[in-house]
Amino acid sequence: MSSKPRRRLAVLACMDTRLDLYAILGLKRGDAHFIRNAGGLASEDAIRSLAASQRLLGTEEVIVLMHDQCGLCGASEDQFAMALAADNALPPWRLGAFESVEQALAASLARLRSAPELTHRDQIRGLVFNPADGSLREPQRVAHA
Ligand SMILES: [Zn+2]
Repeated sequence: MSSKPRRRLAVLACMDTRLDLYAILGLKRGDAHFIRNAGGLASEDAIRSLAASQRLLGTEEVIVLMHDQCGLCGASEDQFAMALAADNALPPWRLGAFESVEQALAASLARLRSAPELTHRDQIRGLVFNPADGSLREPQRVAHA
């Protein structure tokens, strides 16, 4: 088995326990890179991993997978920062809380589509998984010429 993903695909997804990426996307071991963080957000470190995926390991397509009922949806950015500060933690990052999964997804897609770190930016799709009923939707389908 090669370390290069068979389907030339990298998936950026939330770390949520209910997201079984293999089952949701119909993938097998060896098919894709999985990059996971809180929210599935296009953070600097997610972009670092995607840059390595594309530039070193040959992937050409990105799927960003977020979901309904995300722990970051409706969380308080300010309260989180204050709790960190109370423990003398002043990290350079923010939690990334959001009010709408569709808006958070759109922002992450826009970030990736304008990231010069990535060599392949024409096949970047966003999906939202619903853990309640197992459905998957694509709110931002972009037509390609
Ligand atoms: Zn989540």
